Amino acid sequence: MYTKNVHAILDYSVEGKEEEAQFDLALEKTLQNINFAKEKQSIPFAVFKPTGFGKFSLYQKITESKALNSKESGEWAKVKERYNIVCKAAYDNDVPLLIDAEESWMQDAADELIERMMEKYNTKKAIVLNTLQLYRWDRLDYLKNLHIRAKEKGFIIGMKIVRGAYMEKERERAERNGYPSPICKDKQATDTNFDAAIAYIMNHKNMTLYVGSHNELSNYKVLQLIEEMGIAKNDKHIWFGQLYGMSAHISFNLAAEGYNVSKYMPYGAVRDVMPYLIRRAEENTSVAGQTNRELSLLKKERNRRKKL
Ligand SMILES: Cc1cc2nc3c(=O)[nH]c(=O)nc-3n(C[C@H](O)[C@H](O)[C@H](O)COP(=O)(O)OP(=O)(O)OC[C@H]3O[C@@H](n4cnc5c(N)ncnc54)[C@H](O)[C@@H]3O)c2cc1C
Repeated sequence: MYTKNVHAILDYSVEGKEEEAQFDLALEKTLQNINFAKEKQSIPFAVFKPTGFGKFSLYQKITESKALNSKESGEWAKVKERYNIVCKAAYDNDVPLLIDAEESWMQDAADELIERMMEKYNTKKAIVLNTLQLYRWDRLDYLKNLHIRAKEKGFIIGMKIVRGAYMEKERERAERNGYPSPICKDKQATDTNFDAAIAYIMNHKNMTLYVGSHNELSNYKVLQLIEEMGIAKNDKHIWFGQLYGMSAHISFNLAAEGYNVSKYMPYGAVRDVMPYLIRRAEENTSVAGQTNRELSLLKKERNRRKKL
């Protein structure tokens, strides 16, 4: 990929584990990735997901402001320690670290931890990046409030901007438990929210933006903004990202034009990365027309080559 200027992000994608030894293993893998990535231009970021480092139920209890018992408090202290170790390693090795976002009913606890890490390590540039899911209607306000705190405390924001991967689950849970859905009312509202978050970040210098999307139009809009604002195509504050195996036409064309592009490359024991792979498969069937479009582009290219 790198011969075509497409960077890689190694993503240890094991999910749904509940044992401390597994969390330590995920930490170990992420540290190895940071170490492997340092001074390698082809690997610009490391990544981990919050529930890779601790039990979902702990994040959920804290998000719901419920008290932890003594065993849980001990486990949570370990989670905090893992964040500290990995963010310090990212800082020491100068490898920016993306942290994925997950379900809304556990996310506040992760946000809180990540903000502490930004405060500590993002004093000169964005080393720790959180993820904002713009299918949630409350996230733009979250970003603006975070920005106020960042200015007060003197830290720099780094954000991966995505639409969000848990829509059905979010809506079902809200309906089942009788609270308002955290998801935007329709796709258009999500799209508007997504564009607004990107514009907000781009209009405030110094923040780092990572646009994670397979939507061609969304990517085009960022290119347009880059041009209108007179920003260099390869400005180090702006990155584009797609998942490996998806939307190669977007990644490789952006890279050919000189933009910063990377692909998440999932790895792990097959049975342990199944939840991740299933989410992608569902996405590929539910995302209107995307797979068909990719397939038709491939057919078109095959025909073009046949005629050569
Ligand atoms: C590099 C990268 C990193 C990612 N990291 C994360 C992460 O950390 N956390 C995470 O949750 N996801 C993550 N994703 C997945 C992402 O959130 C999307 O699920 C996926 O990219 C599809 O959105 P899109 O912008 O590519 O495509 P589009 O086809 O434009 O959008 C599809 C998305 O729009 C939203 N949507 C669809 N229909 C509706 C509707 N009726 N009402 C409201 N909203 C709707 C949903 O979010 C759906 O997934 C990542 C994706 C990439 C490429």
